[in-house]
Amino acid sequence: MPVETATEKAFRLLREHRLDVQRVESHDGLVVAEMQGDHATYMLGWDPGRKQWRCTCPEMKGQCSHLIALRCVVTR
Ligand SMILES: [Zn+2]
Repeated sequence: MPVETATEKAFRLLREHRLDVQRVESHDGLVVAEMQGDHATYMLGWDPGRKQWRCTCPEMKGQCSHLIALRCVVTR
């Protein structure tokens, strides 16, 4: 069975309605979302203070499937 890439997983998570975007602030760009991952629930979003995408999962910072999915549905 082929290994699922992060991008493939991101689209699967979106198809399965696992992403819940909770806040998008237009004045500073704050984005807060919750993702039902395969193993746990993660908080993720854009942190305007640190100017970076963040996710609480243990995958590679800024490169995880959760953030790929979130960046498909929000722009800043
Ligand atoms: Zn993640």
